[in-house]
Amino acid sequence: MSEKHISRAQQLIPAIDLKVISQGAEAIVFQTKTHPYSSHPYLKNHSQFIIKYRPPKPYRHSKIDAQITKTRTAGEAKFMYKLSKLGIACPALISCDLNNGIIWMENLGIDLPNGNVSSVKNWLWYLENEGREDDCTSDTVKEVCYKVGQLIGRLHLADMIHGDLTTSNLILTGSQDLWEPALIDFGLSSFSGLAEDKAVDLYVLERSVTSTHSVFAKLYNSWLLDGYESAHSLKEYKKFGKAKHTETIKRLEEVRLRGRKRSMLG
Ligand code: AMP
Repeated sequence: MSEKHISRAQQLIPAIDLKVISQGAEAIVFQTKTHPYSSHPYLKNHSQFIIKYRPPKPYRHSKIDAQITKTRTAGEAKFMYKLSKLGIACPALISCDLNNGIIWMENLGIDLPNGNVSSVKNWLWYLENEGREDDCTSDTVKEVCYKVGQLIGRLHLADMIHGDLTTSNLILTGSQDLWEPALIDFGLSSFSGLAEDKAVDLYVLERSVTSTHSVFAKLYNSWLLDGYESAHSLKEYKKFGKAKHTETIKRLEEVRLRGRKRSMLG
């Protein structure tokens, strides 16, 4: 992503402080202290917001590109809105400009003592780098993994698929005494009731944990799956929760097998 895209964003959102915090192939993410329509002093003093901007892609025909940007931005905003309505932790949607590919949302997370934002990935790396093995396998880590699993279980029970579950797309909110995980980045999200789609979602997370936190991955993944199962026994899902869970986990085993075969074939 080039300076050109950053200055275009600045033109679209004039006179607003923008700090780039991430640049991906699909979008640039900015942090700002400015709320799009409220000048309440509380917001001025306490809050940071996130602006996700999808710049035009020069390699696409401009009309098709405009349509894709609009569809993806609307899809992501709708997904976040639905999650919030269901009480599944994610950033609150503040405003969006579909034609220009802009979503304004709540900033989640806090800075860890090493200055990095509290994604699950950064937090686990922080604990690992501190070099104290018992911190990495503590009840706090167990509880966070369990809560993450539970969050994903609730997402899947609503027939919602994240599409890119990695430990970077899970942000820890609250404080070090009581972390609450939340989901971010719904650029690849979709709606599906298929066990296959849910199993692939879980498999992607399992692979992300294995590649980024290899030493304790087995433990973390088993805690995640315990939490995932627990969501299915919540009383609102009593009728069908257990059957859905069994079906998804059976599929997950098949997806893992396919993954292993593929990696053996290179
Ligand atoms: P995304 O393109 O949505 O994956 O965002 C890229 C990065 O920006 C993430 O890995 C986070 O570090 C950060 N980010 C995105 N949305 C938020 C948010 N609502 N609160 C805090 N950080 C965020």
